[in-house]
Amino acid sequence: MAKTEKRVAVVTGANKGIGFEVARQLARRGLRVVLTSRDEARGKKAAKGLQQQGIEVDYCRLDVTRRVSVTALARYLERKYGRLDVLVNNAGILLGKYETSVLDEKESLFRETLETNFYGALRVSQALVPLMKRQGYGRIVNLSSGLGQLDHMGDGVSAYRVSKTALNALTRMLAGATADDKILVNSMCPGWVQTDMGGPTASRSVEKGAETVVWLATLPDKGPTGGFFRDKKRIPW
Ligand code: NAP
Repeated sequence: MAKTEKRVAVVTGANKGIGFEVARQLARRGLRVVLTSRDEARGKKAAKGLQQQGIEVDYCRLDVTRRVSVTALARYLERKYGRLDVLVNNAGILLGKYETSVLDEKESLFRETLETNFYGALRVSQALVPLMKRQGYGRIVNLSSGLGQLDHMGDGVSAYRVSKTALNALTRMLAGATADDKILVNSMCPGWVQTDMGGPTASRSVEKGAETVVWLATLPDKGPTGGFFRDKKRIPW
């Protein structure tokens, strides 16, 4: 039996940037948001900032690269809420220089990037999807990037690119694995967004960057699954 009537949402890497804005928007829509971050002080400060604006959120520490941390989050959700409705796999890193060719990029940089951007989302999904399956409802949004599109694949930022291509493959596989459970799983590209990752000259605000995430996180039951979106429209893989 669920311990809360509200829909419960987890956002990874939500202490700043797009994740923080997604947490804010989902909480404003009445969801019970569990804001998570790898650094507890930064995450708690972010949660407090929202509370000072009258937006109530819960907080739980989560480093997506550490299985013990992921397992602890699953236990926390089970104990406190007995449910999970929405998972936003937002935590991501972009390492190295944009200009570095795939011919020169260090293998270790690929491994480090995939550890967060791909294995992180895999780990969190494996731990939390069972909670969704149990209730026969779920929305999973994977924060991907146009840089991961095979359709437009080119040289530069190759570790980041391949991590997002792999994340897109995970989206398709998770959609297949949950097709009978009323769980909708989609990838999205937020565009070029003004965050620490996107930089100050990026063309989009965080509000705009979060828009399609929130749309996918709150899709109606007949909504799409296994798709890739930008600005609420399908884009090529
Ligand atoms: P950001 O401002 O750099 O924020 C990234 C967030 O991920 C931070 O909260 C960071 O925590 C967290 N994170 C990193 N490693 C983590 C880990 N191991 N465990 C938990 N959290 C971790 O980036 P953003 O622009 O908001 O990006 C959010 C997502 O959108 C990313 O997946 C990114 O690839 C994607 N995206 C962004 C853009 C863009 O233009 N900004 C474009 C396309 C896609 P710390 O504060 O502790 O580092």
